[in-house]
Amino acid sequence: MLHQNLIDGEWVVGEAVPNINPSDTNEVVGEYALASKADAETAIAAAKAALPAWSRSGLLERQGILRKAADEILARKEELGTLLAREEGKTLAEGIGETVRAAQIFDFFAGEALRLSGETVPSVRPGIGVEMTREAVGVVGIITPWNFPIAIPAWKIAPALCHGNTLVFKPAELVPGCAWAIVDILHRAGLPKGVLNLVMGKGSVVGQAILDSRDVSAITFTGSVSTGKRVAAACAEHMRKVQLEMGGKNPLVVLDDADLDIAVDCAVNGAFFATGQRCTASSRLVVTEGIHDRFVNAVTEKLKSLVIDNALKQGTHIGPVVDQNQLDQDEKYLAVGRDEGATLAFGGERLNRETPGFYLQPALFTDTKPDMRINREEIFGPVASVIRVKDYEEAIAVANDTPFGLSSGICTTSLKHATHFKRNAEAGMVMVNLPTAGVDFHVPFGGRKGSSYGPREQGRYAAEFYTTVKAAYTQA
Ligand code: ADP
Repeated sequence: MLHQNLIDGEWVVGEAVPNINPSDTNEVVGEYALASKADAETAIAAAKAALPAWSRSGLLERQGILRKAADEILARKEELGTLLAREEGKTLAEGIGETVRAAQIFDFFAGEALRLSGETVPSVRPGIGVEMTREAVGVVGIITPWNFPIAIPAWKIAPALCHGNTLVFKPAELVPGCAWAIVDILHRAGLPKGVLNLVMGKGSVVGQAILDSRDVSAITFTGSVSTGKRVAAACAEHMRKVQLEMGGKNPLVVLDDADLDIAVDCAVNGAFFATGQRCTASSRLVVTEGIHDRFVNAVTEKLKSLVIDNALKQGTHIGPVVDQNQLDQDEKYLAVGRDEGATLAFGGERLNRETPGFYLQPALFTDTKPDMRINREEIFGPVASVIRVKDYEEAIAVANDTPFGLSSGICTTSLKHATHFKRNAEAGMVMVNLPTAGVDFHVPFGGRKGSSYGPREQGRYAAEFYTTVKAAYTQA
């Protein structure tokens, strides 16, 4: 079956490309359409035409559609989770977990649709009242990456629809399957034509057409820092709202007084699960010297016990890297680390499995210094490094010494250090005795410095981006 783009309520025929399974490169997950620049422009025009009616639509209509989507995604979690694992390479358990998360997000925003509110205050001038309301921003461009193929589209599409925006959605080239499935579900749930348009295709063509359009009022983007900067520059040029989520180089601090088992679980989960392909991954393990050797030994032992194999196989802990490009990048950084003088304490080998795929053993570097490239640049693979430090003061200084600021974690039993860390970590999210990755869907997601730009995503904070505030004055 050829999966087509949805433009103005119609499935549009066009050129198609195969979607390849990274666990078995002989397997084609499906054929997916490639939108052209003209398709993207038609989609934007459709979203613009649909805006007046949708932005004034009844709240029960929005709530009903979002609720139906949540119900269908949940009912099909095994099937959609399998599709996700096949096209992206995370394990089936991770794929199903992410699918459930997407359903929860739609469910949350179905509820939010009935809780839209404003504020009324007296004017400073007698006899006048002021109402503050939130209105839809307009046509929103949604550009998503490959590493969370269903959750990231869900956490952008659901609040955008809830607040009455119309959308042009461009998923990452590597994972059109989950994107198509979500759009199909929302379309059948009864969204009016033009409200949600799907334009699968190349970033340089379709993404660029969204950046260049005068009719797009806001763009929400998750992806690399370099593309993010391009998106921000285009949004400045057009004076439009922008929200960027980009990389991370997230530290997990492990203090001498940490519970070793908790610290090892946090490190292994945070650094290596989902093949390390999470922007919240713990890529820097900042460890004080009293626990350093025990921690490194225990992490290495744990890594030896992990099964790296086909994402769909029962018992697999870590699936393949997403594609050849990403594998090349991971291997490049493994070489960079060795050249910089780091010790490869474990892993880093290419692995052959029954099916041909991009399998890479998780890699742990030790004896690393904070200024090495492997500790400053985002690798986005199953590669983490240990930085040995003297004490807590040095640990937090190293943790904060990065151009990124998404998530920051600490493993400690000290209330004093945990409290100080929560207050002083330069990150949008802080985790105490928890992995840096793995966040809730109903609270704000986002970071500081080079990790994020613009308002937070998710939960009630999503309203900041997906609405614009109006103050209306009335003299009675
Ligand atoms: P990664 O693939 O490493 O996650 P990218 O920033 O390359 O990061 O991709 C994130 C999203 O941005 C993808 O959907 C991609 O197609 C899109 N993209 C890439 N180049 C552009 C561009 N010039 N304009 C708009 N979107 C783009």
